[in-house]
Amino acid sequence: MPWNPEESLSRQELTKLQSERLQKVCERVYFRVPFYKKKFDEKGLKPSDIKGVQDIGRLPFTKKVDLRDNYPYGLLAEPLEDIVRIHASSGTTGKPTVVAYTQNDIGTWAEVMARTLAAGGTTKDDIVQNAYGYGLFTGGLGAHYGAERVGASVIPISGGNTQKQIMLLQDFGSTVICSTPSFALYIYDVACEMKINLDTIKLRVGLFGAEPWTEEMRREIEERLRIKAIDIYGLSEIIGPGVSSECIEAQSGLHINEDHFYPEIINPATGEQLPYGREGELVITSMSREAMPLIRYRTGDMTSLNPETCACGRTLVRMRRVLGRADDMLIIRGVNVFPSQVESVLLRSEEVAPHYVIEVNRRGRLDEVNVNVEVTPKFMEEMATKVLSTDLKTFVQEEEELVRLKHEIQKNVKDIIGVNIEVTLKPPNTIQRSEGKARRVIDNRPK
Ligand SMILES: [Zn+2]
Repeated sequence: MPWNPEESLSRQELTKLQSERLQKVCERVYFRVPFYKKKFDEKGLKPSDIKGVQDIGRLPFTKKVDLRDNYPYGLLAEPLEDIVRIHASSGTTGKPTVVAYTQNDIGTWAEVMARTLAAGGTTKDDIVQNAYGYGLFTGGLGAHYGAERVGASVIPISGGNTQKQIMLLQDFGSTVICSTPSFALYIYDVACEMKINLDTIKLRVGLFGAEPWTEEMRREIEERLRIKAIDIYGLSEIIGPGVSSECIEAQSGLHINEDHFYPEIINPATGEQLPYGREGELVITSMSREAMPLIRYRTGDMTSLNPETCACGRTLVRMRRVLGRADDMLIIRGVNVFPSQVESVLLRSEEVAPHYVIEVNRRGRLDEVNVNVEVTPKFMEEMATKVLSTDLKTFVQEEEELVRLKHEIQKNVKDIIGVNIEVTLKPPNTIQRSEGKARRVIDNRPK
C-alpha cells in the first residue's frame, strides 16, 4: 500500500503539481542563489519563462563540480540560521560535497523515506535494524527518520560490528534490515561461521542501497537470508536516500518520488533529453527542497524510466536499477571513491611515483581494492645499495622499509578516503604506460 496518496496521482494531477513546484523553485534559486541567477542570466532566462515541466529543458544543468566550486555554503537558498542539519559526502579533491537542510527539508526527507520503508512492506509492527552508517553520510539518519515516521521500532546500530548485528537480529527480533547489499551477505557469512540457526532470526525484508548491485546478488541475498531484498536509491546532493525505491509487490524498477524530484534522462555526451525507455544519465531537479534546491542535477548514474502503472498501485515512474556511472567513480562498500582521490593520497608519500593501477575485486561478498604503485627510482637505488651489503641484518631492514611504506600508504587512504585497501609496491617502470587516457582502474567485479 502506498504511504501517501501523492504516490498514486493521475499523470495529469502529478504534472500540475510538478509544474507548480518547478515554477516556485526557479523563483527561489534565481532570487536567492547568485550561482543560479548568473546561470539563468547567461541563458537570458527569467523564472517567469518557466511555465511548467514542459519547459524544464530550457534550464541550466548543475554538476558536482558546481557544488565543489561553491563549497561549503555557496548554494544555500536559506540563511544559516534556518539550517538545522549539514551532511557531506566525499569528493574528488579531498573537500567533501556539502548538503544542508531546513526543518521542512528534514520533514520532506522523513516523508520520502517513510514511502521507501512502506514500499518495502514496513509497518509500525516492524523492528528495523538500521545498519547504514550514521554520521556525515546520509544513509543512517535518512533510514532512521523514515522508519520512525512509519512508526516502526528503530535499532540505530549503524554499520560494522557484524557479530553484534547478528546478536541483535536474534535477541531483538529485527524484521527489517537497512544496509548495503554486500554487508547483508557478509552478515550471512559470519552467521554461518558462528553456526547460527537461521530459524532464530525473524528477518523478513532488507532495504539495500548505497552501492550498485545486480539481480544475481538479489537472488543470492533472498535465498540465503530468506528475505525479500528491496533496492533503494538516493544521493546526498538531492536529499540522501529517499529519491526512489522498489515496491515489495513488483520488485521491478524503483518508483521515483516525482512530486519532489523531477527526473529526466539525457544523453550524457550531448545533454539532449531522451524519451521514456531509453538509457541515459539520470538528471534530477529537487523541486521542494528549501535549503539547497538543485536544478537539473546530473547524477552521473545511468538508467532508464518506465511510466507504466505498477501492480502496487503507485503511478510514480520507475527507474531501472542503476548498474553503472557515467564517470569513473567507484563505489567501494558504499563509499564513493574517485581514482584521482587515490592518486592524491599516494603522492603524499615521496617514495612512490605517479604510476598506479587500482584493481577492484569481489572476494566472497566484499569489494576489495588493491592499488599497484611504483616506487621512485631513488627509493629503488637506496634499496639496491642496501641489498649489496652481505649483512643479513641490513637485508631484513630493507624488507621492513617496504613494509613501512606500504602500511603508511594504506593508513593514509583509510584516514583520508575512508576505505581499507591493499597496496602492492612495484619496481620503477613496471606499470604499463598509456599514450592516451591512462587506464587507472581495473574493475573485476561481476557486472
Ligand atoms: Zn510498484
